[in-house]
Amino acid sequence: MQSQSPAAYIDSLRPAGSKRSSKRDLIVSVFLGQDGHLTADDLVDLIRKQDQRISRATVYRTLTWMEQAGIARKVDFGEGRFRFEHSYRHPRHFHLICKACNRSMEFLSSDIEQMIEEVAAARGFTVKQAVVQLYGLCEDCASGGRPAAPQASSESLFARDALRIAIATERSGREFYTRAASMTSNDRARTIFEQLSTSEDDHLDRLETRYQELLAEMPDLERQPQFLFFKGAASGLFSAGVEALKSVSSDKDALMIGIKCERGSHKFFKKYGEKFEDSEGKRIFLEFAEEEREHLELLIREYRVLTGKDRAGAGS
Ligand SMILES: [Zn+2]
Ligand SMILES: [Zn+2]
Repeated sequence: MQSQSPAAYIDSLRPAGSKRSSKRDLIVSVFLGQDGHLTADDLVDLIRKQDQRISRATVYRTLTWMEQAGIARKVDFGEGRFRFEHSYRHPRHFHLICKACNRSMEFLSSDIEQMIEEVAAARGFTVKQAVVQLYGLCEDCASGGRPAAPQASSESLFARDALRIAIATERSGREFYTRAASMTSNDRARTIFEQLSTSEDDHLDRLETRYQELLAEMPDLERQPQFLFFKGAASGLFSAGVEALKSVSSDKDALMIGIKCERGSHKFFKKYGEKFEDSEGKRIFLEFAEEEREHLELLIREYRVLTGKDRAGAGS
């Protein structure tokens, strides 16, 4: 799955046969070059630095067009005027808004999302949009420090955190399969567990390389605030399985726990991957979901073989 460049994306929005507007292109590219939440007047100031001839009305009109075209999203922080943020390749998120320095920061929590889904389902309510905004003092303002340098875009924080979650999952998966392989008495099952442990190892290598590449592009990235709050997944989706392995007595049970973990992991990454806007983080989630599905199928096949053998064994 290749993502489009912003220019190709903007081109694809233009009705067939309509002319390219250089003013509009300039406004769109300046807007997309900024991170954070701009007021219309912030954008006018930025545009005027590049081209004095572009009128305020043109900028406003283009903002409205960008909003309709899905490039910009309007946000209201209760200041009596709207702000605009990217919606193109920008993950859905919630906001933290500092009333002292007026900075706004973004985050995403799977627990909040789940809660919203639960409440909506219980009330038979179809959610079109959910706005969560926390107002208060940011860390810098609360400690009397100077506001830190501008933070990395949410897109890169999202990619970083998606990789961290995938890496934690691989680590707990590798631990699970290594442990399961050392416990099993059945040769076939042991081979499968060893194979999966090696596979998790390879994936882990790849993910760690990708993480290092991301850091090489943005050396400051590790010091940036957390964006994804995915509590259940943060410690690795297999850690519960590792615990459960301690009390199993048969290879069949061990396989069953593996199946449960892989299924949970596949579902988790697929569900969130599909919800996200096109981005590196989305690709990480969906690729990972696919790998987990392959593991899941392998385990299910093995489970069938093993239970078949069990029956034959019981008959002899
Ligand atoms: Zn502040
Ligand atoms: Zn935002």
